[in-house]
Amino acid sequence: MDKKALLAKAVDYHGHIGVFLAVGLRMGLLLRETLGGDGFNTQTLIKTDLKPPRSCLIDGVQVATGCTLGKMNIRVEESSDLMGVFTVEEQKVEIEVKKSFLETMKEKMVGRDRHHLDDLTEEVMNMEAEDIFELRKI
Ligand SMILES: [Zn+2]
Repeated sequence: MDKKALLAKAVDYHGHIGVFLAVGLRMGLLLRETLGGDGFNTQTLIKTDLKPPRSCLIDGVQVATGCTLGKMNIRVEESSDLMGVFTVEEQKVEIEVKKSFLETMKEKMVGRDRHHLDDLTEEVMNMEAEDIFELRKI
């Protein structure tokens, strides 16, 4: 599925377009590029602030990885960090959203209506993964 179709699927699922929904999608895609796997052999732990917009990331990760609440292979833990810890069979990786990315997005979102962030969302979908995430194999 290309990025545009994936974003459309995520927006349909989540109910609105958003920057952190896109960050969740990119996180899930980066996991798949790095470790492969599927929605059945992956365990996901998301560490996030437990309120939108940051928590919107969770739905992006669910759509991109196939890990779902119903399958009990995604868990959420309250944290001031924003990251995913993923296990695919014996391999484990941490994907953290960079503080520099969060600062930049915060500045760009000032004064913006959070329901009309299509341009920023598209920007996130097309950024280099290295500009969004710090990836660590653990
Ligand atoms: Zn949202």
